[in-house]
Amino acid sequence: MPKLVRRTPSDLLAGLAAPVEKLLARAATVAQSHGATLWLVGGVVRDLFLGLPVERDIDLVVEGDAVALAQDLAVALAGRVVAAHDAFGTATVEINGRHIAHNARNAIFLDLAGARREIYPHPAALPVVQTASIAEDLARRDFSINAVVLELHADGSSLQPARLLDPFGGQHDLEAGVLRVLHSASFVDDPTRILRGLRLAARLDLVVEPHTETFLEQALERKLLEETSSDRIRTELCLVFDEPRPSQVLRLADRWGLTSLIFPALRWSERIEQAVVRFENEMANAAHDSTLHAQVYLGLLTYDLSTEEREILIARYRLPNESAWLLRDVGAVQTVLEQLSPTLRSSEIDTILRPFGPAALWTVSYAESSPVSAIVQRYLLELRPIALSLDGHALQRLGVLPGPQLGQLLRALRAARLDGLVTSQAEEETWVREQMRQPGAGGEA
Ligand code: ATP
Repeated sequence: MPKLVRRTPSDLLAGLAAPVEKLLARAATVAQSHGATLWLVGGVVRDLFLGLPVERDIDLVVEGDAVALAQDLAVALAGRVVAAHDAFGTATVEINGRHIAHNARNAIFLDLAGARREIYPHPAALPVVQTASIAEDLARRDFSINAVVLELHADGSSLQPARLLDPFGGQHDLEAGVLRVLHSASFVDDPTRILRGLRLAARLDLVVEPHTETFLEQALERKLLEETSSDRIRTELCLVFDEPRPSQVLRLADRWGLTSLIFPALRWSERIEQAVVRFENEMANAAHDSTLHAQVYLGLLTYDLSTEEREILIARYRLPNESAWLLRDVGAVQTVLEQLSPTLRSSEIDTILRPFGPAALWTVSYAESSPVSAIVQRYLLELRPIALSLDGHALQRLGVLPGPQLGQLLRALRAARLDGLVTSQAEEETWVREQMRQPGAGGEA
């Protein structure tokens, strides 16, 4: 259950780092000069209650014209408007970290939205948006814990405690560890809220409130997720892999019966669960690049799919190229694993595993048990990074003629290096000269 460490507006403001407070005070001053009220909303307010640092995009609601305000904010805060949608009344301002604090490296994004009501023409449709009051804006939100706003009122360069609006008891629900929708049609209007709720419940260890649970079950029975566009579902699913502990989300998705709704052939088996947990535990120490994490999760979750199922999944969710190739690679690499054995030479392992991308190989290393897993990890950490000192140009300088034989010689040289037959640039050069003395070698006479 989450623990609330801040409660009142002044407590919440005290949770903002000084540069962020200064930035928001300047934003509020600009809004005030427009005669508009600016409110902090969404995950930032939730994180402030929980005493978490604000290291994320900042969601702001304005009772007024968000696009016009964004343009003025960009000028006042030395930022730039990176997105503006007049029809939706939303805009995003990017502020370079340098303008916030000397040591801030990352940019901050202010996501501004005009207070609005949303009308859903039919279930799972995109809503029609109309300007409204802040109270109506809160009523269109997904969960009580996300329907709390803190007014930003500036006095000079600092923020003064102002109104905290919490009409649906979000603060109480957060403290009680409860996930609650605001009305019975919430999941019907927007079934992606099921996936948003899943992430929040798993992340914050929330219990679904009984009425909300009934609405959730009804939405699942009515197959509303299946009617939602696959692009919207894919966007939500990608966010799962950015969660601090995706394994918790995936486990809960299975308990809620979502895994097979998302794709019928997906199974959250004990083996996959163990692989995901192993990956999560080792992730921080492992030498792989963190940009691969989401790909490895996807690779593990889909590990047991057949070639045909992989293609159907790729097409159904119109997966981006990187993910599509990962899925194909993970399928293909499984067909060569039986060739791996601890008695192989390093160069033989290289020949088998070289065609596959690193995310697919990391996936295999967590999904399989030893000796396969150990061989793949050794390949990734020790063998794959080995680089030759000589390249094609260097070989030509040694007298090798350009052409297919040059490529063959380079591959053979790499094999010699992997197997420890040559260990330095000098030895590589000697090895090349020796090869050229062999009858039929493609060197210059
Ligand atoms: P996270 O910690 O995952 O970033 P967040 O609540 O900040 O959480 P955002 O996606 O940035 O998530 O959304 C900001 C706010 O917008 C939410 O807190 C919620 O009030 C509202 N919101 C976002 N998506 C929906 C939705 N599908 N239906 C209703 N309200 C939504």
